[in-house]
Order: sequence, then C-alpha cells, then structure tokens
Amino acid sequence: MPFVTEWSTTDRRNLVVFAPNVLKVFKRYRQRFNWQLEGGGILLGRRRGEHLEVLFATEPSDKDRRSVNSFVREADGHAEIAHKAWQCSEKQIDYLGEWHTHPQQVPTPSTVDRHEWGKLIHERPVLTTILVVVVGTTAIYAELINGIQNKTLLPLSNTNCQN
Ligand SMILES: [Zn+2]
Repeated sequence: MPFVTEWSTTDRRNLVVFAPNVLKVFKRYRQRFNWQLEGGGILLGRRRGEHLEVLFATEPSDKDRRSVNSFVREADGHAEIAHKAWQCSEKQIDYLGEWHTHPQQVPTPSTVDRHEWGKLIHERPVLTTILVVVVGTTAIYAELINGIQNKTLLPLSNTNCQN
C-alpha cells in the first residue's frame, strides 16, 4: 500500500499523517503518462510535538514552471494560501513542507531536489523540521529534514485506522 495515510521514521519518533484529501491531490497529479507534467506545491498542517499532521496540499498554479521532468514552484499563489490558512486557523495550520511529482514508479529525489531542499532549510529557523515528498506513479517518497539530519519516512500500513 504505497499511498498510505500514516508514515513514521524508522526510530518511530516522528509520525506523519496525511489527510485523505492530501493523498487525493498526490494521486491527481501522478505522472502516469509520459506527456504529463511534473506538479507540486506546499504542504500545510499542524505540528504536534515531533509529529506532523498534513491537512492540505496546494495544487500547481499557472505561475509554476512545469515540464515533464522539472517543477519550479513560484512562491506567489502557494504562499498566499499558506498565509490565509495560518490566519484562518488561529495560527494552528502552518507550512510543513513541499511536494512534487516524478515520472518514476518508485520515486527517488534528484540532486536538484536535494539542492532545493537545502536552500529551503536555510530559510527556516534552525531546527525547524520540514517534510519533503516526491510522488511517483505507484509510490511516495517522504523525508523529514532539518539541516542537521535527514530522516527517511516509511509507510505504516498496519495502523491505518483513524480515530
Ligand atoms: Zn524532483
């Protein structure tokens, strides 16, 4: 089950939960055909201690530069949505990270991705963890990064019940 709701770091210290509508956005932009463009956006949700609850994923906007094997997100539209969500949720819903698609079944981050994520981390306050997601056609790659360490996330397929 690659598109599962609950993910955790291998040490089980950090849990990441994707809301169903977030997985729906990922699925919508999956590059299942070779003419489909890379898509992406930002991830919004709540931080609960070491855990992240991903509630929204913004969708690609007209301003983003998209091609079959690259995606460059323009800050404009996505930042506005992030700011609005933050205000309307009494500052509970915050920027959590980034997602984009790859035309691969099981995606692996590229060197460009690593470079971009490195830049993002430098813009954040020290030790803020961000979540980065690469969406492939049959699987998702997810990682938590904070500038000091990178933690790969693994899907927790047996704990899918939501209370
Ligand atoms: Zn990429």
